Amino acid sequence: MPAHVIDGAALARDTYGRLKERTASLGRSNVRPGLAAVLVGDNPASRIYVRNKMRACNEVGVHNEEHLLDAGATPETLLATLDKLNRDPRVHGILVQLPLPAHLDPELVAKAIAPEKDVDGLSWVNLGALVSGRPVFEPCTPRGVVAMLDHAGISIDGREAVVVGRSAIVGKPMALMLMARGATVTVCHSRTPDLGQHTRRADILVAATGRPRLITADMVKVGAAVIDVGINRVEGKGITGDVDFAPVREVAGWITPVPGGVGPMTVAMLLANTVQAAERTLRA
Ligand code: NAP
Repeated sequence: MPAHVIDGAALARDTYGRLKERTASLGRSNVRPGLAAVLVGDNPASRIYVRNKMRACNEVGVHNEEHLLDAGATPETLLATLDKLNRDPRVHGILVQLPLPAHLDPELVAKAIAPEKDVDGLSWVNLGALVSGRPVFEPCTPRGVVAMLDHAGISIDGREAVVVGRSAIVGKPMALMLMARGATVTVCHSRTPDLGQHTRRADILVAATGRPRLITADMVKVGAAVIDVGINRVEGKGITGDVDFAPVREVAGWITPVPGGVGPMTVAMLLANTVQAAERTLRA
């Protein structure tokens, strides 16, 4: 029987419904959650991502603002923008859309956003807190993956998980979060010999490599949950994931599509973190 497809778009819509209730409740305390997006340069894909995030904010009642800096913006200009947003009480979450132009160091951003507004969860403080088991905000993409596993009723505790990819924004935090939930985690990357030898052990297989169709059916254990984080633009084929969807679907127990899988859940988790940030101001 083909794998059950975990519909990230539908789950994101459900999440928006619950977030709307929370923003309405915050409104009764005169708090409107706010998200500021900072975009440097005019990368077309980044513009689309930011526009989608702002649209989602409007849907759930989150105040949103875009701060567009030109491609040649100096580090000082970027830092001054972040400093202003750190001090703005209408802004509960700050998002700097990556990638930045080559002359701007992403670590600069990671250090400059106030941890209590770092709703992407990617600052050094937040990643360190995740390692210590006390996250301030869980990074959005791995949080979306865990939400999808939970929604599908897939147990994590005691299972074998294999994460392919070791980036600071997906692979590493993903591994930490699965470990925190009791999985035995293996992390693979481009230097891993015989990738299939590892992936075939996985009850939960997360692919986050940016390599179209890297994960083929022979690399997947029968009945596994296969989560495809990849977003790859392939000439003539539109957007495809890291998983060879149709053949893998015949082997796996659960699978996420691309598009319509992890992507929408990443945006939903960004909003969830922003609403959470606003709720914390009431308790402060
Ligand atoms: P990244 O920083 O480029 O990292 C890619 C990782 O994959 C690296 O650790 C790399 O290993 C590993 N890798 C590359 N080729 C491999 C191979 N042949 N075998 C095994 N491992 C391999 O990318 P990222 O930022 O983590 O993003 C990964 C993918 O997820 C991209 O397609 C990106 O667009 C997508 N993404 C999607 C969302 C979403 O919302 N759905 C969010 C973020 C990212 P090395 O470390 O050894 O180089």
